[in-house]
Amino acid sequence: MLKDNTALMERLCRFIGIRQEHFHLLAAHAPALLARRDLLGKEFYWYLLKSADTAELLNRHLPQGSEGLVSRQLDHLANMLSQELDADGAGAVVMLGRLHYRLGVSMVWVAGAYERYLAHLLGRLAEMAVPAELNSRLVRAINKRILLDQMLQLHGYQQAMEEESHRQNLHAQAMSRLYATLNGVSLVLSRAETRERMFQAICDVCVVEGGFSHTSIRWLDDNTSLLQAVACSSEPGADFSLNQPPSAAVYSVYGQGPSGRALRTRSVQLVNNVNEDASLAPWREWLQHNQIRSLLVAPLVLQHKAVGTLSLYSRQLGFFDDAKVELVKTMASEVGRSLERHDVMERNRKNESELAFLSHHDRLTGLPNRQLMEDHIARLISSESDSARLAVMVVSINNFHEVNARLGHEGGDVILCEVARRLRKEVYPFGYVGRVGASRFIACTDRFDQLDGLINQLMARLQSPVNCMGAVVETSSSVGVAVEFKNQAEARTLLRRADLALSRAKEKRGSQFRYYDEKMDEQIQRMHSLRSEFANALLRNELELFYQPKIDLHTREVVGAEALVRWYRDNRFVPPGEFFPAIEDTDLMRKLDWWVLREAIRHAQEWQGEGRVIPVSVNLSAMTLKHDSFVPGIEALMAAYPLPVGHLELEVLESVSQQEAEQVVAKLERCRELGLLIALDDFGTGASSLVHLQQLPFDTIKIDQRFVRRLLEAPGNEAIVRSMVSFAHYSDRKLVVEGVENQPIWARLLELGCTSGQGYGISPPMASRQLPGWIDGWETSDINLDYNI
Ligand code: C2E
Ligand code: CA
Ligand code: CA
Repeated sequence: MLKDNTALMERLCRFIGIRQEHFHLLAAHAPALLARRDLLGKEFYWYLLKSADTAELLNRHLPQGSEGLVSRQLDHLANMLSQELDADGAGAVVMLGRLHYRLGVSMVWVAGAYERYLAHLLGRLAEMAVPAELNSRLVRAINKRILLDQMLQLHGYQQAMEEESHRQNLHAQAMSRLYATLNGVSLVLSRAETRERMFQAICDVCVVEGGFSHTSIRWLDDNTSLLQAVACSSEPGADFSLNQPPSAAVYSVYGQGPSGRALRTRSVQLVNNVNEDASLAPWREWLQHNQIRSLLVAPLVLQHKAVGTLSLYSRQLGFFDDAKVELVKTMASEVGRSLERHDVMERNRKNESELAFLSHHDRLTGLPNRQLMEDHIARLISSESDSARLAVMVVSINNFHEVNARLGHEGGDVILCEVARRLRKEVYPFGYVGRVGASRFIACTDRFDQLDGLINQLMARLQSPVNCMGAVVETSSSVGVAVEFKNQAEARTLLRRADLALSRAKEKRGSQFRYYDEKMDEQIQRMHSLRSEFANALLRNELELFYQPKIDLHTREVVGAEALVRWYRDNRFVPPGEFFPAIEDTDLMRKLDWWVLREAIRHAQEWQGEGRVIPVSVNLSAMTLKHDSFVPGIEALMAAYPLPVGHLELEVLESVSQQEAEQVVAKLERCRELGLLIALDDFGTGASSLVHLQQLPFDTIKIDQRFVRRLLEAPGNEAIVRSMVSFAHYSDRKLVVEGVENQPIWARLLELGCTSGQGYGISPPMASRQLPGWIDGWETSDINLDYNI
């Protein structure tokens, strides 16, 4: 520096033509020339204030403010005249120029200050009235000296300006490299297929485009809380082994270094001078070895959580200024966003494979679904094995809807999963098992020799109670089995036959299994033809509505009549028990119900027209009630054929009210709004709890005939009836008993507190046109009074 300043000074002195004698001359006259220092100070001061911007700048940057500046300037001027210039002095003036540049003081202002100075000195010189020759020598010396000073300052000023522009250039270069890096990274992000490749490519781009000496990406291991290096890159010649420096432990969420801090604070950690950051102690040796002077660690954020870090290392001291940090931040957030995209893509990919799995498997139990099971069966059929025969089993959990109603769907799911587990355990050694319906499973095996053992084992396993959410639940299952020689077998036929066998097994209560036999096919044939005959009967009006009267057991007064359908076929009235199995679960059931409803309303209105009040009860199947058209249908019917409140009652099976309780409740409530009464039919035959029943909107309880007919023989029945009576009493519902077959039953029912009843002992169901006559006869008949005790 000293050498530079000496050279500069010599060069300038030569250029200006200022020599030793000039300095001496000035030094000799300096005191006189500076005699009005106070005046010069004032002039400077005014000049300073004239340019408000500059005054403000200088005041801000200089500790003593403008006063201090003025006195410094005056000192400088004094020195300038009195002292011979040496390299140090020249250096000081250069520094002053640099200072002015850095302060933002304009060169014009500096030149102006020198002019003031020159003018003042020349003015003083005139006042001094020195001889003309000396005067002109002094004028020259003063001019030269001020020019020299000015040029030195200018040199400093320019030097600082050039340095700045160089820095700016460098900055611009660095920025453009970073932009290139960002572009490169974006490109990588849009192209990389796997996370690993993406990370590696980012590191490479940062080194090649960004000019970083090293880069690394680390990923947070949630279990160990350590940052594991997943990718790194370094410029040619530099080595960067993944796990250095120095031990994995320093790369932790709890680490004191920049990585740990970046993770915890989710903010960029910047170290522009690695020697000044004590937290880098563990890395010191490595940093020195690689001549790294500044570094930056940016957190990688995925869904608001810091999941890793991007570290950039530079050999340049103070490499990262605000603009670069911003750019790196942008880069890190681009990477984060891209990670999120990758995540979504990966999840989609997973979902796709999950979907593929789900398209062949049941979501709840993970068992194969029907389609896959059919494939399995087909494969077994075509497989060559020792066994010539193949067995297909259909397993159904009995009354599963009741389990669901009692335990809720969660409980139901637990049961299903447990049953699936048991089936899997028993069946897998021999064949396949899958879930094909809500509570239905199928299994297949070609180990015919093992079949009996397998079925026994299955039946035993399926009967054992299930622990479900703290409760022990008893379940039973029915199994239908179909066996066929492989060379004659077909998957669908086998499944149909096993289904048929299952429905036969279900006819018996409890855990049962049935093998398919050909008679079942004949039965099914019969059922199909019955179904189509019934469809015709509906069209041809071959149905008739019978009525069974309901009476007050105390007064014998007729309180209503239950409509019961009959099919007039082959000269006889066929009761529902003979044809319902053929139409249950088909649309015909709904058609029948609407026909009955219309017919019953027609009859009720007819009787009303005759001045009779006979409230009618109509049985409603679950299918009709659950169908979406139910409420609108009833509304339309009641609007078309209005009946007084209480003249039409709907009998709903207890089991119906258990399923989809909420929906059913809403529908029943709507019916009550329309003036209908609701009766709970076959009360006590379902598995609903009294609490559940208590919440349902019904007016009447009907005790099923199966508890009543044998009331006197089976003491258990009496207990049941007694509890139903008290339930009705406490829940304020009417009670009707079915199956009043004889007088002793009637008498006992009265003793038990039953008030209304129907049954063969009063009257079997009769044709509608007979009912009015029967009522007239019944109410005037004395003989029947004998029943009343
Ligand atoms: P339910 O609703 O329990 O009807 C009572 C059944 O018991 C009727 O059989 C009736 O004839 C019979 N019954 C009446 N008194 C006695 C008696 O003292 N002893 C004995 N052993 N039985 C008696 P039905 O008419 O054969 O009806 C059977 C079931 O078919 C009915 O049971 C009902 O659930 C259903 N059902 C009948 N008609 C219709 C209908 O029009 N629509 C719908 N959806 N279901 C109907
Ligand atoms: Ca009924
Ligand atoms: Ca009944």
